[in-house]
Amino acid sequence: GTTQEQEAQPQPQPHVLIFPFPVQGHVNSMLKLAELLCNAGLLVTFLNSDYNHNRLLRLETTDLHARFTRWPGFRFETITDGLPDDHPRSGEYLNDIFDSIKMITKPLFRKMLVSLRRSSDIRPPVTCIIADGIMTFAIDVAEELEIPIISFRTISACSFWAYFCIPKLIEAGELPFKGDEDMDGQITCVPGMESFLRRRDLPSFCRAKDLDDPTLQVVITETQKATRASALILNTFEELEGPILSQIRSHYPNIYTIGPLLALLKCRLSYSSPSISSSLWEEDKSCMSWLDSQPLKSVLYVSFGSLAVVTRDELLEFWYGLVNSRQRFLWAIRPDSIAEKEGNGQIPLELVEGTKERGFMVGWAPQEDVLVHSSVGGFLTHSGWNSTLESVFAGVPMICWPYFADQQTNCRFVSEVWKLGIDMKDRCDRRTVENMVKELMEERREEFMKSADQMAKLARRIEVLFSEQLT
Ligand code: UDP
Repeated sequence: GTTQEQEAQPQPQPHVLIFPFPVQGHVNSMLKLAELLCNAGLLVTFLNSDYNHNRLLRLETTDLHARFTRWPGFRFETITDGLPDDHPRSGEYLNDIFDSIKMITKPLFRKMLVSLRRSSDIRPPVTCIIADGIMTFAIDVAEELEIPIISFRTISACSFWAYFCIPKLIEAGELPFKGDEDMDGQITCVPGMESFLRRRDLPSFCRAKDLDDPTLQVVITETQKATRASALILNTFEELEGPILSQIRSHYPNIYTIGPLLALLKCRLSYSSPSISSSLWEEDKSCMSWLDSQPLKSVLYVSFGSLAVVTRDELLEFWYGLVNSRQRFLWAIRPDSIAEKEGNGQIPLELVEGTKERGFMVGWAPQEDVLVHSSVGGFLTHSGWNSTLESVFAGVPMICWPYFADQQTNCRFVSEVWKLGIDMKDRCDRRTVENMVKELMEERREEFMKSADQMAKLARRIEVLFSEQLT
C-alpha cells in the first residue's frame, strides 16, 4: 500500500538552487544560467554572498529589480562568505575566500537547505542544486541530504582538462618545475594538447615549486571531486572545444556544454530587451558615447577583469606601449587593481592626462556592450573565460596577457588553436605591447578579423538553431 501511495503523490515542483563561488566571473555566468532556467519555467533560488549582494543592491537597485521581476520564479537568498566587510577579496586573496567559505559557509549552507526543506511556505523544497565546481563541499552536503547535484565549472574545457591532468604531469615528472627548465619546452602528457602546449601554458598553479603548495593541492582535489556530481555543466560549445571535450568525456561522460551562455540568453530574451548587468562595480557608461564618436573597428579595448592586480610598473609599460602604438584605446582600470601602495594605488596622473588624445579611461566598463560596439576592433585581455567568450561572441580578436589560473591555458588556445589573436604571456615591456597592438590592429588585422568572424558565427549558431525552432 505504501508504495502505491508514494507513487500517487504528485512530483514536487522543480526548484533549482544555484550557488556560485562569490566572485564576478562566476556570478556573471551562473546568473545567466539562472535566467535561462527561469525562462524555461523553473523555480530558481540564487545564493549570493551577503557581501556581493549588498554591492549589487547598492549599485543596481533599479536594474536588478527590473531584471528579475520578469521572472516570478526567481529569488535571491544570501549567505555569508565568512570574511569581514573590509577584506579586499581581489585575486591575491582568493585562498582566503576559499578557506573561509569552506569553514564558515559550508555548515550554514547545510542548515539553509534543511530549513528550506522543512519550510511549508510559498517555496517548495529544493529539488536540485547547481553548485560552482570549485566548491565541492556542496556535493558532500547534497549527498548527505539526498538532493541531486550538478557541478558548474565556469572555466574553459581546455583548462579544466589541463587541471584534470595535473596528477599525470606529476607522475611523469613534469611537475614540479625545478626552476631551470625551458618554459617554452613542450608538455607531452596532456592528451589532445601534445603538439602545442608549452610549460608556460600550463595553469598558473603548476608554477608552484612545491607539490605541497596549498593552492595546487586544492586544484587537484576539487577538480577530481567535481566529477562526483551527477553531471558537469561547462560554459563552452562543441565547435570551440570539441576535441578537448571528447578527452574529458572519456573519463566523465555526463557533460552539458551550454555556452556561450551569453548567446543563448540573448536569443531567448530577444535583442530588444536592454542588457542589464550583474556588475559588482559601478559601470561607467560614458565610454559608450565616446565609442560612438570613433571610427569603425578602430578601438582597442583593454581590461584585465575583476581579480587581476598589476604593479605600477606594469601599468606604465602598458600605457607607453598603447600610446606609442598610436592606436585608439578604451582602458578599464579597476580602482583596486594596482598592487603597490605607492601613490595609494592611484592611477598615475601623467597617465590619465596623457591618455586624452587617443584614449579613454574608465574604472569599470559595461564590457559586454563595449565588445559588441562597432568601433571596437581588438581586445587586450587577461583571458578570463567570460572575457574570452564575450570576445568570441562579439567577433573581436585578442591580445592575451594572462594573470593566473586557467588564463595561461586559454591564451594558448586563443593564439595557437583558434587563431583569434596573439599570446603575450610572461612579457610586459612597452616595446612588446606596442608591436603586438600594431600587429593586431594593423598588420594582421584582416587575418584575425576573418577568423574572429567565423568563430563568432559558430558561437551564435545556437541562436540560429533556436529561431529555426520558433519558425
Ligand atoms: N567586466 C566588466 N567590466 C569591466 C571588466 C570586466 O563588466 O570593466 C566583466 C566581464 O564582462 C566578465 C567579468 O567581468 O564577464 C570578468 O570575468 P572573467 O572570467 O573574464 O575574468 P575574472 O574577473 O574572473 O578574472
